[in-house]
Amino acid sequence: MMIKKFIYKYILRRKYYRYGKCRRCGDCCSKIYVNHQKGIIKDEAEFFKLQKLHPFYTFLEIVDKDENGLVFKCNKFDKDKHLCTIHKFRPGICRRYPSEVILKMQGVMSEQCGFYFKPIDSFKDIMNKLTNKHN
Ligand code: SF4
Ligand code: SF4
Repeated sequence: MMIKKFIYKYILRRKYYRYGKCRRCGDCCSKIYVNHQKGIIKDEAEFFKLQKLHPFYTFLEIVDKDENGLVFKCNKFDKDKHLCTIHKFRPGICRRYPSEVILKMQGVMSEQCGFYFKPIDSFKDIMNKLTNKHN
């Protein structure tokens, strides 16, 4: 097994490789759901409590509410320059974006996003594993 595959699968416990790069579209900074313990935050009062727990939440403004919950935008995103104004000090969650956790939570990435995921195990790998199990 390739060393990269081994590290991703058995050390990092990943199911996908991530490819691509950021195109600075800003979509992930302007349509944000906040997922906390019981799921996506739907209630303003619940969100105001969260703001006291982590500085990142103080950057967020409520811009909408849809069937999933409250929708936020980050006020650290400069729309004209297409830049995060605190890029060097941006929170870990932004540094890691997009991670496959989004897929596990059945989240959707922007169609404009320059990143994409591919399963580490190919369909053939999975079929071989299943066949070997039953032999
Ligand atoms: S801190 Fe920067 S990268 Fe993170 S959501 Fe805000 S603008 Fe985007
Ligand atoms: S949605 Fe993707 S391409 Fe757009 S700013 Fe976020 S990470 Fe970059």
